[in-house]
Amino acid sequence: MSLSKKSVVRNLGTYSTLSQGAGAPERLYNMKILIATDDGHGIDTNGKRTPLFEDGTYMKENEFNRAVIDKLNVHLKRNKFQVLHVSAGDKDVPLKTRTDLANNTIPNGFGRPADAFVSVHANAAGNVWNSKVKGIEIFYRAGYKEGKKLAQDVQEHLVKGTPLFNRGLKTNNLHVTREAKMPAILIEGGFMDNQDEAKLLMSDAYREECAEEIARGLCQYFGRQYIEVSKPVVLPSGMYPGEIIIGQTSLLGLLIEGRSWIPVRDSFNVMGINTWLFDNKSIVVNGNVLETKIINGSSYIKSVDLQSLGLVKSVFLDPDAVNTKRVLIYPKEAV
Ligand SMILES: [Zn+2]
Repeated sequence: MSLSKKSVVRNLGTYSTLSQGAGAPERLYNMKILIATDDGHGIDTNGKRTPLFEDGTYMKENEFNRAVIDKLNVHLKRNKFQVLHVSAGDKDVPLKTRTDLANNTIPNGFGRPADAFVSVHANAAGNVWNSKVKGIEIFYRAGYKEGKKLAQDVQEHLVKGTPLFNRGLKTNNLHVTREAKMPAILIEGGFMDNQDEAKLLMSDAYREECAEEIARGLCQYFGRQYIEVSKPVVLPSGMYPGEIIIGQTSLLGLLIEGRSWIPVRDSFNVMGINTWLFDNKSIVVNGNVLETKIINGSSYIKSVDLQSLGLVKSVFLDPDAVNTKRVLIYPKEAV
């Protein structure tokens, strides 16, 4: 029995690198896709800020742009994209440098042009508060079908996930959408001079929402199933997560009083063991009733019991692990 790593590893919580989108073909993640990300302007670019709030404070546009791009880059990497941040650092990187990097006419370290270009900005109609201007809009290069498709996919998610008015898709003669040789979009994520939207632009929750929805749009455009942020598993006290390696597969097990416990269903799947059943709150293998713990709806048995029952060749703590929280299980047959 041979199951791919993805099909057996699920609901792993703390090991985010292991939890990939269920059911998405492996090849979609193996395909290298490079996304150029651009946080528009430098932190001290003149004039790019909200009007003053009553208490005299304001937000610079780049604070929003940069926060969204930093968060987006994390989502993209989790989703197995390669990321080229074309405007890293505090300086206002010239627009031409940004697109030259994306096009790899300035060597970008990836040896090829990016596959998509995403620039994030905050909008402004003027420099005084103006409650009439509102909403999100996305620019793409006129007449470029793939750019429009990318804009549509990102817009679909952005307007679903955020409370803002949808100003629609636009074309305009913008440097980044014109000069980037790949599908390129410029997102205006709300108006800095609309006080309500300015407050949103300043909030971490809104920035996070924007980043996540842009990542979802990119996944949709490239036909990838979005990989959710894994939520940490809450374990009862005295129990700790431990990594269980079976052959080539890594699973999340438990450590309780120094002993390792393995998740029954997933580990038996990996090893091709199907002669087990769940009876009266216990796992039974070939008539042997095993001590069983049911945590968060999954059954666990002690990994040493596998060995006592002769179900595996050997079980031991990984001597190379930095801590002693990794258990190696050698199945009888290679898996
Ligand atoms: Zn801007």
